[in-house]
Amino acid sequence: MQVIHTIDELRTVLKPCIRQGKSIGLVPTMGALHDGHAALIKASVAECDVTVVSVYLNPIQFGKNEDLDKYPKRLEADAKLAESIGADFVFAPTNEEMYPEGDPLTLIRDESLESLYCGAYRPGHFRGVLTVVAKLFLITGANHAYFGEKDYQQVFIIERMVRDLNFDIQIHRVKIVRDSTGLALSSRNEYLSDLERSQALSISDGLRKAKEVFDKGEQRVAVLRDLVIKSILANRGQVQYVEVVNQKTLQKINGVLRPDDRFVILVAAFFGKTRLIDNMELN
Ligand code: AMP
Repeated sequence: MQVIHTIDELRTVLKPCIRQGKSIGLVPTMGALHDGHAALIKASVAECDVTVVSVYLNPIQFGKNEDLDKYPKRLEADAKLAESIGADFVFAPTNEEMYPEGDPLTLIRDESLESLYCGAYRPGHFRGVLTVVAKLFLITGANHAYFGEKDYQQVFIIERMVRDLNFDIQIHRVKIVRDSTGLALSSRNEYLSDLERSQALSISDGLRKAKEVFDKGEQRVAVLRDLVIKSILANRGQVQYVEVVNQKTLQKINGVLRPDDRFVILVAAFFGKTRLIDNMELN
């Protein structure tokens, strides 16, 4: 496996693969890889001839007061993990390589969904994500890309971008990977103290309870949301949002769930200074 830092070099190694008709799988990450990322890499290695894992902490998707500076960085360990799973290339560009002229003037936006849920609290975040993901699609020429459902709104918006802009790439969703206690794996879990980590389980506990009552026939959105909110508040978390949304449109549901639709609960909450997101599909 090769670690590549420049766009030219990556294109040079991938072009012959593309000419030979090989399928290229891309796994975009911000590094500090864990078993959640590993699941994406495994899926790509199983399904594609060549797997490229990008490790890039994209500055334009972070707000001024967010955790860009303290985000964990460990490229060497990331490369080892990617190699052990069977990835062919790790692409780890610098900011100068990705944005040689400083902040890009051309940005990709989802004008409808960028201001909902995570987007409401992280202005500019999805614009930064879509722009870097589009760049990575164009740089690699990948025909497959793998994203986790942990970032449910993100994968939804990326799928929409691919349809709206006719990118010739297939997006694959990978289910959320949790640890044995139920906590959704995240590079940001490293910020949590032991106490906060145990309190943060209230997110997945609350989601599980909501799914249980949904499975028993509960259709009132307020009841489902309350179960999650109360679970988090009882464990000293601060709720940013808990919303029941339609899986197909990502639009928020109020009132009562219709039996013929599919729903997912989206959550963001703080434990101490750490912001965590999670979600659970109800059906
Ligand atoms: P990140 O490095 O946090 O930007 O994540 C890179 C990719 O890994 C995104 O598509 C995430 O949705 C995915 N991912 C992160 N954590 C998990 C997890 N626990 N389960 C599944 N996918 C994940």
